[in-house]
Amino acid sequence: MISHEYFQELISMHALGALSRAERDNLQAHLRDCADCRERLAQERAIVQMLPRSVEMVEPSRETKQKLFARVDADLARTQNNARAARRAPARAPRRNWFAQPAFAFAVVAVMLVALVGAYALLQNRVSPEQQTMNAIMTDPNVQQVALAGTPDAPNAWGRVYMVPGHSQAVLQVGGLQTLPQDKVYEFWFIRGQDPHASNLFTVNADGTMTLLVKANDKVENFNAWGVTIEPKQGVTKPTGTLVILGGG
Ligand SMILES: [Zn+2]
Repeated sequence: MISHEYFQELISMHALGALSRAERDNLQAHLRDCADCRERLAQERAIVQMLPRSVEMVEPSRETKQKLFARVDADLARTQNNARAARRAPARAPRRNWFAQPAFAFAVVAVMLVALVGAYALLQNRVSPEQQTMNAIMTDPNVQQVALAGTPDAPNAWGRVYMVPGHSQAVLQVGGLQTLPQDKVYEFWFIRGQDPHASNLFTVNADGTMTLLVKANDKVENFNAWGVTIEPKQGVTKPTGTLVILGGG
């Protein structure tokens, strides 16, 4: 009689499609009588369904690998004990020829499957080079943060610039901005002294926020202020419109 606990352990493997036919048949039979295991399987399947959308899942997790290898060990021990009992011969020192074991082959396939799912997830997400640069800036140990504020023309607006000295790109976060008419755009400025240098044009989400990678024509530490104006759609080289966000100085 195989125990409920044994099947509980098989369920994650099953959700990944990594069981042998015999194991699967045994599990199916148990599932007919065990609501607990059915529910667990549904949960595990839901998790597997989510994998393609999870960026973190690039490699099989350590836990998954450990589970797999723990199973390989358990299977090996079982088959070796059975073989010994059948032969009734003095036990030889168990030889670990994992590659010859079907269970090991299965484990390898399962690990590869998880790795493939992860790679697929990465492709699905298509993390843009721009997003990768933004992530690198935000997580850089030398990142500096400057708070920007709404001007009297846009009192609810706010902004933040994240920058790493030595780089000429920064991450800009803004909020509290209005959606603009079709012929207008927000323009970001890197300011040195009294001299604004044109950077990116952008629009905002329906909730008035936006996060974007902004490019300067010099290293970020060579600027001392940052601002946002409302400009004609094609952008301008010197500010002409309403200043809505400003910071530094
Ligand atoms: Zn059960």
